[in-house]
Amino acid sequence: MTRPRFQVLTVAIAFGVQGAGFKVRSLQGAAFSRTQNPNERRTMNPALRTQQVLQVPQVLQVLQVLRVGVLRPGGAYAAANVPMETYVARVLAGEAVRDSRPAALEALAITIRTFALANRERHRADGFDLCDQTHCQVVRTATAATERAAAATAGRLLLRDGAPASVYYSASCGGRTQLPSEVWPGADDPPYLPSKDDDACRGAPAWTAELHEADLQRALRASGFRGELLGVTIASRNASGRVARLKLDGLRPEHVSGQDLRVAVGRTLGWQHVKSTAFDLRKKNGSYRFSGHGSGHGVGMCVIGSARLAERGTNAEDILARYFPGLEISPGASARVFATREDQTGGRIGVRPQSDRSLSPGTASPVPDVLVSLPDDDEGERDAIVKQTLKARDDLARTLGVPAPRVTVRFHPTTDDYERATGQAWFTSGALVNNELHLLPLAVLRDRGMLERTVRRELVHLMADAALGTRPAWVREGAAIHFAGEPIIPGEPKQRPAFKPDLRGSCPDDNELLHPVSLGALSNAYARARACFAKQIQAGKNWKDVR
Ligand SMILES: [Zn+2]
Ligand SMILES: [Zn+2]
Repeated sequence: MTRPRFQVLTVAIAFGVQGAGFKVRSLQGAAFSRTQNPNERRTMNPALRTQQVLQVPQVLQVLQVLRVGVLRPGGAYAAANVPMETYVARVLAGEAVRDSRPAALEALAITIRTFALANRERHRADGFDLCDQTHCQVVRTATAATERAAAATAGRLLLRDGAPASVYYSASCGGRTQLPSEVWPGADDPPYLPSKDDDACRGAPAWTAELHEADLQRALRASGFRGELLGVTIASRNASGRVARLKLDGLRPEHVSGQDLRVAVGRTLGWQHVKSTAFDLRKKNGSYRFSGHGSGHGVGMCVIGSARLAERGTNAEDILARYFPGLEISPGASARVFATREDQTGGRIGVRPQSDRSLSPGTASPVPDVLVSLPDDDEGERDAIVKQTLKARDDLARTLGVPAPRVTVRFHPTTDDYERATGQAWFTSGALVNNELHLLPLAVLRDRGMLERTVRRELVHLMADAALGTRPAWVREGAAIHFAGEPIIPGEPKQRPAFKPDLRGSCPDDNELLHPVSLGALSNAYARARACFAKQIQAGKNWKDVR
């Protein structure tokens, strides 16, 4: 269903300096130096100039230069400016099946370009648009074939309501494509990302993996699970037959989703083992044998399937229509319609309808209030996390009577990584470092039922710590627990501490809160901090006056 429209096409070209190379924080949480504030380039970028506006059908302002985070030895990223079509040709080299026919490369080129534009906020917290790893799209050296496919489709995008659609692709769907919500809890399931059988890939590749119990336990512990692993069994499957949940005997939490298990193993032991969640599981002689098919999350385009379709003579448009039913494919932007203009958001350029911004509020927002940094395969949960964080921030700002601040939230891929980045022990769940919220892996917080509470708690720290800076630590911790523990739904009973705090011990000293020796000791100190804080609030004190 194409909506007839006649709008203004403006294409911005930024004459960026190659390899500006300011260092940004490593995604692994290693030390970093930010030699330039990424916010500054929004207003200071001199490369954008107003020249002209051309009247052509279908109006899109197309981002011509991406800032790509290039992983350096040692784990830090350096940002480099890469022209869009160069980027597309390089990613094709990293993501396509070897020796794909042109139709498959062109379909994937359009998908890669759309993905880049729809996800260009992803690394804003890091000072660039997209990284060059599997987290975003893998960048390799372009070939003549991938350059041809990028040029042949230059500027073409998959659109939904006139804006780049939020698209996904993976190596192989394993014979049936997946709904986003089956992979990432809380994700939307738009009509163009259905779950349906795919006879093109025929379930290739079939794979098996053998993991020693000790290695599996190591992977799960690195992701935040605790205890001794006694057994793993498949507890449920989703509608398309993939593993939905597994039971982990001996561990806490005692369940893990199929996707989170795959991610836990991938991050610790490598992604080559459990390639998808379409698997069977058997235990034999202290080892778990996974046998499955497919590779990757299975949402959206199946790359192996599209390569097979192209071999059968299917063209790029039909491949895209098959994997993204209902999306519109924009016409190409030929070089002669390129014109430069000053960007209205102050240098932050991307694709959006010019004359009707209300069509895509998501892509038109000038500066996001909440920046979220998510590892690997948690990306599908971004929208839900952003929404939840924004709501919690606004609620808490109202309650505290302070202006709502900009928020940066970093979910760490493993507990080790969290501990390294924050200097805090795994049982602390969250910490504020340089005014950024650092959190344990998403799966762990969610499975412990602590996601919302932890985010709220660190948000209170972000908003209240400055006003309470000179007080003992229990005032700041007490405030965080007190305000985060407020009923989320009106009328819901308040969260109570798991045990009766020992109030004779009075308020905890700084050491108990800042350098706890165990989870038990910290829980005890938290409960006392909360009680001390609440006592003064109940006596009618303003939170800023608690001391
Ligand atoms: Zn990335
Ligand atoms: Zn497939």
